[in-house]
Amino acid sequence: MRFPCTRDDALSRLAEFVPLAGRAYAARRNQDGGPDGKATTSLLSPAIRRRLISEAEFAAAAVAAHGYTGAEKFVQEVCWRTYWVGWLQQRPEIWTRWQADVVRMEAMLADDGKWQRRHEQALVGTTGIDCFDAWVHELTETGWLHNHVRMSFASIWCFTLRLPWQLGAAFFYRHLLDACPASNTLGWRWVVGLQTPGKTYLARADLIRDLSAGRFRVEAPLAREAPPWPADIVPAPIPPAPAMHADPGVRTGLFVTSEDVSLERLPLPVSPQALAATSGIGGAPAALKRQVADAMLSDGLHRAASRFGLDPERLDEADAISAMRAWAARHRLQQVITADAPVGPVKDRLDTLSPALAADGVRLVRLRRAWDDVAWPHAKKGFFPFKAAIPNLLALPPQALA
Ligand SMILES: Cc1cc2nc3c(=O)[nH]c(=O)nc-3n(C[C@H](O)[C@H](O)[C@H](O)COP(=O)(O)OP(=O)(O)OC[C@H]3O[C@@H](n4cnc5c(N)ncnc54)[C@H](O)[C@@H]3O)c2cc1C
Repeated sequence: MRFPCTRDDALSRLAEFVPLAGRAYAARRNQDGGPDGKATTSLLSPAIRRRLISEAEFAAAAVAAHGYTGAEKFVQEVCWRTYWVGWLQQRPEIWTRWQADVVRMEAMLADDGKWQRRHEQALVGTTGIDCFDAWVHELTETGWLHNHVRMSFASIWCFTLRLPWQLGAAFFYRHLLDACPASNTLGWRWVVGLQTPGKTYLARADLIRDLSAGRFRVEAPLAREAPPWPADIVPAPIPPAPAMHADPGVRTGLFVTSEDVSLERLPLPVSPQALAATSGIGGAPAALKRQVADAMLSDGLHRAASRFGLDPERLDEADAISAMRAWAARHRLQQVITADAPVGPVKDRLDTLSPALAADGVRLVRLRRAWDDVAWPHAKKGFFPFKAAIPNLLALPPQALA
């Protein structure tokens, strides 16, 4: 499979890819051979997104093979993900604002025939821009696009087709197997100049031809300028909540979510008595995204079950909060441990679940990985100050690099 859905397959892909994570990656990573071509990057973003494997493992493997200097470009790209997640974590309002914008803009489409037509042509790939139309098919059929393609796609969407970035981000979010509230929302904001004020990304036909090895002719004219989206107010960063700790002496259940499917790799101070996940991943994802996320969740549940010798349970997704409360009561749990979830739908669910369980006398403990704990507070400003913290991340002790 092009995108591994189990930890074993993701580790095999990692081992295959690591020899290429040094200078070859720095030189060739922007080339995109398309869905049938040879990949120049790892294609592991769906696996990292749901933590089948972690950023920490990925970066450590590259540094072990190439040294820090040889693997620097690759490690920095991995850390872009950590940076975006940490940045959004401290400004949750940007995520809620985007969600509200999408609802508002989808309603507005109904009142503007021209805008609606352009939007529909973009969604089905009939704009007449050969690369863009091919990328729409690649996205909806495979659930993935190369990084440079995502930049060009977003630029064409906003500056050539003159569609709002928010709806483009919604289209990506529905289909991408690696759809991440932070990398996706902030990637789109970066293209229109909202993340680096005034600095936008303009897609260029010659570069698209070069980087796609001539697969596209790009004859339809592309926008020649990329005026920044009107600046918005970026809230001051809210420091991440303090790390939580589990009680080693109470009856404990483990709850696996689609945000982090490797709970057996968290340092747990207690042996759990019960293990559960919900039956779905929530939201309204495209069928392929749902299927892949669900396969990863099943793999995570299976691994945790064999690690702790427990029977895994799948709880009703449609009524998840009641199902969780009933599960906790059935096993007489006093605490439920899960992996901490950054800003996004799983965090929203945990925020609702926490007081509901507390009302039954059950404490929800969200354990944060050491990598996030060290990295997030550094994501206050731009990526360049954040980069300075990367050596601290790589110096974490091996047991923290889970
Ligand atoms: C508009 C836009 C939207 C994006 N949306 C997402 C998204 O929803 N989810 C997502 O994981 N990435 C997103 N990205 C970042 C990037 O395109 C993908 O992470 C990358 O294409 C994944 O391919 P790979 O696994 O082969 O990466 P590799 O080059 O092999 O890199 C290894 C890992 O580093 C991380 N990474 C690499 N480049 C970036 C980057 N520029 N930003 C953040 N993380 C990076 C990914 O986790 C990736 O798996 C977006 C970029 C743009 C421009």
